[in-house]
Amino acid sequence: MKYLEEFRDVATVKKMLYKLKLESNKKIKIMEVCGTHTMAIFRTGIRDLLPDNIELISGPGCPVCVTPQGYIDTAIELSKREDIIITTFADMMRVPGTDSSLQKQKALGANVRMVYSPLDAVKIAQDNPDKEVVFLAIGFETTIPTIALSVKRVEELNLNNYSILQSLKTMPATMEGLVLDEEIEIDGFICPGHVSTVIGVKPYEFLAEKYGVPAVVAGFESGDIVFALYKLLKMIQDREPKIENVYSRLVKYEGNQSAINIISDIFEVTNSQWRGLGEIKGSGLKLRNEYQNIDTEIKLGISISREKKLKGCICGEVLKGKKTPLECKLFSKACTPVNPIGACMVSEEGTCAAYYKYGKK
Ligand code: SF4
Repeated sequence: MKYLEEFRDVATVKKMLYKLKLESNKKIKIMEVCGTHTMAIFRTGIRDLLPDNIELISGPGCPVCVTPQGYIDTAIELSKREDIIITTFADMMRVPGTDSSLQKQKALGANVRMVYSPLDAVKIAQDNPDKEVVFLAIGFETTIPTIALSVKRVEELNLNNYSILQSLKTMPATMEGLVLDEEIEIDGFICPGHVSTVIGVKPYEFLAEKYGVPAVVAGFESGDIVFALYKLLKMIQDREPKIENVYSRLVKYEGNQSAINIISDIFEVTNSQWRGLGEIKGSGLKLRNEYQNIDTEIKLGISISREKKLKGCICGEVLKGKKTPLECKLFSKACTPVNPIGACMVSEEGTCAAYYKYGKK
């Protein structure tokens, strides 16, 4: 438990919380952009212990929640074809599309399979040469290296019945999109711990240099989060924006070079559609030209459906930190984790699910 207990020490956390009170009394909004941070903040009750002037807002950090509705509808349509096997991580199964979900389609007989890794999907393709195996490639830099590995594996095996339906996102460009959105006020960011283990600290530096917004890379224990808040408040108070790393036990400045290399071997930067946020320039990745034979849209001659808004669901505003789930009329009534209306209630890391689970007032 070394490297964990120290970061859970109640006395140390209390001392840091006390220091937060002394640091500033200006109204400050800090956004976390990682679903695991959102859950950790609720689980540890940190929000309730903060001085009144500090507001924590949850941004777009949950991969399932930010995947556009049109993408889900397209996956559902593909699942109706007899010549296709859909493979996906478990969270995607329950995300409601406009009229159905992959889970419902599976119950109706569609060939939809949950996998733990895209490499499992490649194995399914090997075992089913008469079917096209489509992997639902969503998520951030944390999962993208394994998706890139699956593409390499398919090339090595010379398989021609595996493809990926792409909606891959990158975090730093998204944070820039949030900073540039005039409707959102952000004084500082808690950078995502898992994503940062892959990309390192350097890709966030433009936030401080170009926009004067400080950010701190943090882990997921109470001590990590409170220490990150202390660092942020100090930088805001002193008007010295920088990017700090308080998760150095896992995050290196230069990131994980092998993971970075495999991502850039297979993918290139593109614009990306986000649920509720629309298109953000340069915030996505797509297969390089030489791998277009693995792009589901090109291979099957289809396009991802246009976005349709779910009636009454304010997931988009929740993902921007402009509204909380408590402002949604459906929260905890028509929309619960058992019967989710929007994606933010489906995933364990979704903000609506966190509010529901921890009973946030
Ligand atoms: Fe959407 Fe449900 Fe969240 Fe409301 S509570 S914003 S319907 S996911």
